[in-house]
Amino acid sequence: MRCKICGEDFPSKYYFKTGDICNDCYKKQLPTESKETNGKNNIIGIKNNTETPEFKTLTGYGKFISGLGWFIIFLTGILVIIELVSEMEVIFVVSSIFSGAILGILVVVFGQIISCFVSIEKNTRMTYELLKNKEQQE
Ligand SMILES: [Zn+2]
Repeated sequence: MRCKICGEDFPSKYYFKTGDICNDCYKKQLPTESKETNGKNNIIGIKNNTETPEFKTLTGYGKFISGLGWFIIFLTGILVIIELVSEMEVIFVVSSIFSGAILGILVVVFGQIISCFVSIEKNTRMTYELLKNKEQQE
């Protein structure tokens, strides 16, 4: 059996990724080329999708929101110190701590849920990819 790209001779079909392309040549191929060679086989194309710009934006968005949450908690701390220094009523100080801390924590959690969602999506895609890959090899 001869590979149509490198022209090398192989003893059996197990050295071949597709009908007439060997494993080495298949790996070297660019995504667009592999789509042309085999319409059903888009493994390389799927791998590239995990690096799409939208994906990075969502990850950054999650980090930004949790950062914002920590900033709210930080500001609450400063506010409480100012209130204590200016000898405000205890009820105001306590309500500042509660509202600031709860809001801050909620925002942090929200940001982390977004980040978590992104990694779940990434894992699902990877699992799908591996399963698809295995299916095609059998
Ligand atoms: Zn080859």
